[in-house]
Amino acid sequence: LDPKSFSEDSMTVIDFLADYYKYVEKYPVQSRVEPGYLLQQLPNTAPHCPEPLENILKDVNDSIIPGLTHWQSPNFFAYFQANASTAGFLGEMLCSGLNVVGFNWIASPAATELECIVMDWMGKMLKLPSSFLFSGTGGGVLHGSTCEAIVCTLAAARDKALEEIGGDYITKLVVYGSDQTHFTLQKASKLVGIPRANFRSLATSFSSEFALSPDVVRAAMEEDVAAGLVPLYLCATVGTTATGAVDPVEPLGHIAKEHKVWFHIDAAYAGSACICPEFRHYLVGVELADSISLNPHKWFLTNMDCCCLWLKNPKSLIDSLSTDSELLRNSASDSKAVVDYKDWQIALSRRFRAMKLWVVIRRNGLANLMVHIRSDVNLAKRFEAMVLEDERFEIVAPRRFALVCFRLKPKVDRGDGDGSDLNRRLLDAVNSSGRAFMTHAVVGGVYVIRCAIGSTLTEERHVDDLWKLVQEKARFLLLDNTL
Ligand code: PLP
Repeated sequence: LDPKSFSEDSMTVIDFLADYYKYVEKYPVQSRVEPGYLLQQLPNTAPHCPEPLENILKDVNDSIIPGLTHWQSPNFFAYFQANASTAGFLGEMLCSGLNVVGFNWIASPAATELECIVMDWMGKMLKLPSSFLFSGTGGGVLHGSTCEAIVCTLAAARDKALEEIGGDYITKLVVYGSDQTHFTLQKASKLVGIPRANFRSLATSFSSEFALSPDVVRAAMEEDVAAGLVPLYLCATVGTTATGAVDPVEPLGHIAKEHKVWFHIDAAYAGSACICPEFRHYLVGVELADSISLNPHKWFLTNMDCCCLWLKNPKSLIDSLSTDSELLRNSASDSKAVVDYKDWQIALSRRFRAMKLWVVIRRNGLANLMVHIRSDVNLAKRFEAMVLEDERFEIVAPRRFALVCFRLKPKVDRGDGDGSDLNRRLLDAVNSSGRAFMTHAVVGGVYVIRCAIGSTLTEERHVDDLWKLVQEKARFLLLDNTL
């Protein structure tokens, strides 16, 4: 690693990326390549000799970029975004450039201490109770994904429960979420050894606006207890993936306490919005939770990857995940006066993600982060208003954040059935135009088109163009000139 060529080559790559951002709007948003396309274009063995950076960047341009779905395009309205920003990129450069591996405190004291500081900063911005903060009685850690956060908290809950009821009883433990909970909970349950039959995906409905009903949870837990099972873990979601629904945290928290189950809040997407006072009420009752997670890589201007996990009792996580290796023994760890993050996560090695989040927070400040959330929400309101003005369309689930779920209303006399096929064709037509990309969900048996707003480059004109595109494709589909 020669500092001079490091600087020159890095500048070349940064210029390449700056150009990419300049023209990203011009690419078809969703990639159009066929499976296996890349093997047709690249050699199938590694080069023996070093290659010039220019040749590599040429291949990125000619072969890789056409195979990308452009997540940073202003016309990307699919899934939930992976927000990129200059600050996020600068932080990522520092993280990657310094390339330290802070698995325990001594392996890079600043990496650990910055993570503790940043987790408290984030927690305070969200007005989390001090029971989740290092400055209080809890603490937080940065993972790469919500899935990891849930696996780790489930492992902690499992071990705590098995210690109380006896190690052989894993087959009795039950995990609860709703049919809107992200599938990551089911995957995590499998990974920690919860029997498939003990995973409860409790029904939600249009009438509950796709939120988990406390009565349904209570009934399910009581039924399981009566059958000799042991409720273990309840996951509430603030901002579900399909529609942005919010489970009622406070009543669910009380039920969790009654049954002594671990209560986790998955705020992967919408947690970021809770830094704004007008959205903070969605976290009322958070003090009843054992843990809460949020992905800054979704809606907090933080480049991939970054997931915040706060715990009220980090010791339960450490008890479950710590391993005692002679190779890593050191006096700081022995003194118990430091945080060793290897015991808060699955892997040993870890990235210096705190650097990235720290730069994002400092370069924006709480003020600009709130502006960012509010401007996306306003764009979503703008799109929602356009949908509502057109009586052929309907909003299928209430919009709470920057996600709008809508569809063309099916008509019996047109033979639209339940409308799934009609809306699938509409979405295909929009996406295959290359001018925008949205995804779908099926909720309460209804196929909906999701318009998730939040790409950093998206402006009003992109939202307006999206709506024109939807109308244009609908007109073609319905063969109706009045649209
Ligand atoms: N939870 C919610 C509510 C999500 O929307 C998502 C992803 O969209 C996840 C969890 C999964 O997050 P990750 O990919 O970080 O595991």
